[in-house]
Amino acid sequence: MERLKQKIINEGKVLSDSVLKVDSFLNHQIDPVLMQEVGEEFASRFQDERITKVLTLESSGIAPSVMTALRLGVPTIFARKRKSLTLIDHLYSAEVYSYTKQESNTISISKDYITHDDVVLVIDDFLANGQAALGLIDMVKQSGATLAGVGIVIEKGFQNGRKLIEQEGFRVESLAIVSSLENGKVTFKED
Ligand code: 5GP
Repeated sequence: MERLKQKIINEGKVLSDSVLKVDSFLNHQIDPVLMQEVGEEFASRFQDERITKVLTLESSGIAPSVMTALRLGVPTIFARKRKSLTLIDHLYSAEVYSYTKQESNTISISKDYITHDDVVLVIDDFLANGQAALGLIDMVKQSGATLAGVGIVIEKGFQNGRKLIEQEGFRVESLAIVSSLENGKVTFKED
């Protein structure tokens, strides 16, 4: 997605050879027009899959997911990372290890919102080592629902997330694939 790549070039900050900061449009401040285009792109790539729910992880997955769900005409659900006073039982849960934060989180969603009849599209902001996406996929499996695939806004193609998800037989669609962050420079994989 060309406009997303331009935005990454213009506003992204390379923090190290493996971490890209995009707080000006995705992870802190959100560019709603860009998110609308992101949602349209995911909806068009998965339009034939008869999706009934879009599933993401709080908080940075919510904006692209809402826009995708709006376009597909279905609800979106975000998994919670922290214990909630109101979300206490009747849950699907998975353990997610974050390499960036060096900590493990239990993520959860209520069983009320995904059932075995659903066809679920998983969306996330970044794909690195695939742990967040695999945790979301794990909860879809627990529910007995069908997974239509995984939509990623920014994939770091030099990490192994895609490989792990594809090994499980699932489709991954990324709107921008970064092939390197070396020497402070963002390089994209050619489409
Ligand atoms: P994974 O579980 O695939 O290893 O990492 C994905 C999660 O870690 C994403 O949900 C995102 O929040 C965070 N993440 C991983 N790498 C980056 C990065 O380079 N930049 C930002 N902003 N977040 C990242």
